[in-house]
Amino acid sequence: MQPSTKCVEIKKGTTGSVQPIDPSTAFHYIDSGPQFYPRYFNTPNQNVVAQKIADLEHAELGLIFGSGLAATTTTINALTKPGDHALFLNGLYGGTQSFINSELADRNVEYSWAEKSIDSFEQNVRENTSVIYVESPTNPLLEIVDLRAIANLAAEHNIVTIIDNTFASPINQNPIDLGIDIVIHSGTKYLGGHSDLCCGAVVCSRALMDGIYKKAKIYGGSLNALSVYLLERSIKTLDVRVRRQNENAAAMARYLESHECVSRVYYPGLESHPDHVVAQNQMHHPGAMIAFELLENISITEFLKNIQVIRPALSLGGVESNVCVPATTSHRDIPIAELNAQGLTEQLIRFSVGIEDLDDLKNDFEKAVGAASPLSV
Ligand SMILES: *Cc1c(COP(=O)(O)O)cnc(C)c1O
Repeated sequence: MQPSTKCVEIKKGTTGSVQPIDPSTAFHYIDSGPQFYPRYFNTPNQNVVAQKIADLEHAELGLIFGSGLAATTTTINALTKPGDHALFLNGLYGGTQSFINSELADRNVEYSWAEKSIDSFEQNVRENTSVIYVESPTNPLLEIVDLRAIANLAAEHNIVTIIDNTFASPINQNPIDLGIDIVIHSGTKYLGGHSDLCCGAVVCSRALMDGIYKKAKIYGGSLNALSVYLLERSIKTLDVRVRRQNENAAAMARYLESHECVSRVYYPGLESHPDHVVAQNQMHHPGAMIAFELLENISITEFLKNIQVIRPALSLGGVESNVCVPATTSHRDIPIAELNAQGLTEQLIRFSVGIEDLDDLKNDFEKAVGAASPLSV
């Protein structure tokens, strides 16, 4: 089945078009056989949605969580034990970095950060490396990690690979097909898609899921029944939403690249993107996230004040277009010199493209950038 069909497929066990919402926390244990309990991640509703995400990612099994970070922290802890070494891509999602920096040392897990080249990963692999964890495309510069190369390196050294596939969504990239072992999503973004749901997911093989599931039951980061229902409902339109967002983003990236007020556009679908070829080789589509830099003399404050269809908001992946300035929001704790060295200037804007009309998006940008240009300020 193709993704669009998988998204709306009705799983066995119900005659309705959706799973009935089942908020029970107590189940008849003689009649129901296995002991269902929400914190065991095994209620019929949880199972159906987890399996749907696994199917979309071409994985054997799935597990859904109360947040993306619950999925991440549970998985990292399941795959590392005291004495192990974990290797992370430099510049991961902030919450993931905070977890690594504040928790791993206490658990006697060594860790280091690799740059996105395969050489850097190779140089940082140690005898005791048990896990490699990456994101691709990355936040906010949309850099691409060569996932097949990472998978091959890891296989040589018996290392388990994990990717946070949030930015791509299962519609644009299926890392398991490239040899990656475990895929994580912040379902708060594209899977939910309406900016009203906080959840996460992990998918992988049955063998790897055993250990993750054991930890998940201990830590207890499960998703409640009402949110499970919302996630099920949201996924029905995942394919159409993301395809439309992709189309808008590809067009907006080209538009911004030729705009006189924009000095640089980062979008893996553009030939000017340094990782364009790798993106083409591993993604079904370069996605709906863009980053761009306004010229130095354009006031970011005025731009954000005047943008109306597109909203300054921190999350991403929703049907509404959002922009944010990483240097003053998600990355504000990093010294500006360091940010600049990474190419992350104060004029850089991250753009999560929604499903609005393309001309409305262009007109909105045009008006806002006009109001922010030196002549009008
Ligand atoms: C938002 C996000 C997370 C964390 O997900 P939550 O659902 O907010 O816990 C992890 N990774 C990426 C790439 C994200 O964008």
